[in-house]
Amino acid sequence: MTKITGVKCIRTRRDGMWTIVKVLTDQAGLYGIGSASDVRHPETVTKAVETIAPMLIGREAGNIEDNWQSIYTSGYWRNGSILNTALAGIDMALWDIKGKEANMPVYDLLGGPCRAAVPCYAHANGRELPELVEDIQRYVEEGYQVIRCQLGAYGGGGFLSPSQARLPKGSWTRGVVFDDEAYLENIPKMFEYVRSKLGFDVKLTHDVHEHLRPQVAVQLSKLLEPYRLYFLEDALAPEQVHWYKLIRDQCTTPQAMGELFVNPHEWMPLITERLIDFVRVRVSKAAGITQCRKIASLCEWFGVQTAWQEGGDNDPVNQMAACHLDMTCWNFGIQEENHFSEAELELFPGHAILEGGYLYPNRAPGLGMDIDEAKAKAMLNTDAASRPSISGEPDRRTDGTAVRP
Ligand code: MG
Repeated sequence: MTKITGVKCIRTRRDGMWTIVKVLTDQAGLYGIGSASDVRHPETVTKAVETIAPMLIGREAGNIEDNWQSIYTSGYWRNGSILNTALAGIDMALWDIKGKEANMPVYDLLGGPCRAAVPCYAHANGRELPELVEDIQRYVEEGYQVIRCQLGAYGGGGFLSPSQARLPKGSWTRGVVFDDEAYLENIPKMFEYVRSKLGFDVKLTHDVHEHLRPQVAVQLSKLLEPYRLYFLEDALAPEQVHWYKLIRDQCTTPQAMGELFVNPHEWMPLITERLIDFVRVRVSKAAGITQCRKIASLCEWFGVQTAWQEGGDNDPVNQMAACHLDMTCWNFGIQEENHFSEAELELFPGHAILEGGYLYPNRAPGLGMDIDEAKAKAMLNTDAASRPSISGEPDRRTDGTAVRP
């Protein structure tokens, strides 16, 4: 029997975005780590972990399902972003502990590998079309077989300058504004250009990042059909998922959805009604390995594949949790790449290796990685004012209306 003796959070990264949970046990040197990072609310998640911690002291670390269920209902209200993230950090750490005790990688505990490595898709970008094609070619040369195409920032292709936008008097909109019809005009043109230069050998995706009015998302999906995307990502906001039925009725463009999902009632209907092709929840936002392996199993029976969300603000522990699921789930589709600096990776000995478009887990027991707490502490900048990326200021339409998300 291995008892939990402590749960703590390690905050790190220069901007303080990353929260790594460490679960300690009564066995000498045995502990586990997990990801509870939240780009906008790291302090709130940390507080949630600390609030849950006392109920775990003395519990059996190996009873992962029971611990998960107990934490899941511990606040009575559930399926929220903050509690899910705190729960995920603890859950991953418990899988890490169990793997170390069994002397097996987590993917072996989950049934063993289905594949030799994990194919990832890259993020190609360019404000101008030739620049984008050049970026795609660079990733093709690196070995990537699936590449996401964007025109600059999320919403790129749909932005108008203030002079183009004809703003109303008294406008509070600063800088460019987002216009659905401009996006609808420019994104198909982007794919027309890319296909004309590169043909159909390379698999392409695009992330709408939930910017569009639902009807425009239907139109875009239909207009993109000739370019045979690998998938179109987050065409709709999570509040508008019923529109996927209309998209399905109109076209065959494959759909990937779920970056913002936290509640089973968000993903279940889309999977069981076969309205999406890839589920894209973030492992930490869906409450960890325990819940995500159930999502993957549900998807298997309905022909839906997994494409766990990474990129952006995720940390290497969340990436590793996704990687272990990818290795063992038969209906895995593709994994989003991450953008870690060398200095960031140095905090995590044993981190997954990204090479030639494939992600390789460490084959050591558990998650196979650790955190260097001294280095993590040295990198942390707790000055909240130094975090430009936590600004939640949305894009805006011409009249000033906020664009979701
Ligand atoms: Mg996305």
